[in-house]
Amino acid sequence: MSLDTADPHPVTLILLGPPGAGKGTQARMLEQKHGLVQLSTGDLLRGAVAARTAAGLAAQEAMDRGELVSDRIVLDILTDRLNQPDTRHGVILDGFPRTEAQAEALDRLLEARGRRIDAAISLKVDDEAMVERVSGRFTCASCGEGYHDSFKQPARFGICDVCEGTAFKRRADDNAETVRTRLSAYHAETAPLIDYYAARGALTEIPAMGEIGEIAAALDALIERLGEAQVSA
Ligand code: AMP
Repeated sequence: MSLDTADPHPVTLILLGPPGAGKGTQARMLEQKHGLVQLSTGDLLRGAVAARTAAGLAAQEAMDRGELVSDRIVLDILTDRLNQPDTRHGVILDGFPRTEAQAEALDRLLEARGRRIDAAISLKVDDEAMVERVSGRFTCASCGEGYHDSFKQPARFGICDVCEGTAFKRRADDNAETVRTRLSAYHAETAPLIDYYAARGALTEIPAMGEIGEIAAALDALIERLGEAQVSA
């Protein structure tokens, strides 16, 4: 897909899936391969919490409990990010929208910018596996490479495979109890968006219990198809 500055239609993708489905991992890979910008409301909110902004302070309690932050706060933070010029070549929304009100607000935000959703991609996984996946994950504090206590330790203990950093971090909400609350929030508030996007003909479902590389290949193929559809439109 053409993503140069003259592209009259920047691509907008949504990644849907419960915590641990691999949205962040796949979004980072798409960013590197296709020049899209990953917009993760979770990352934006964690940044606001760390910077102790008013939005961050208001969001922190819900985040610590694994509950959703209010639509108002999330929409403000997302709108600010979407207004930054690097997003004009195309974005992957990771962790947004999470409620029907957010999905409707996103439609309006994109329409006002002459854009629309190209694909909402639902990553299909088993919930129980997600509790183990999320509870054991950690990342390199320097480059963000993801690891896991059981599935993917660095090749050399305590040294990042990618950047050789030696500091690692875990998210405060990546514990078994909070993951269960996050999964419940996903099923109650976010899973209905699968039907929302299916009704608009924008939904693609991708099985996501396999290898990271296989899932990435399925996403690459989808982006190719979107590009071809655009050329022939
Ligand atoms: P994530 O990094 O996407 O797993 O998000 C971490 C936490 O940030 C969630 O458990 C919520 O508390 C909050 N959060 C992130 N994105 C949203 C959103 N779109 N709507 C409401 N809360 C969100």
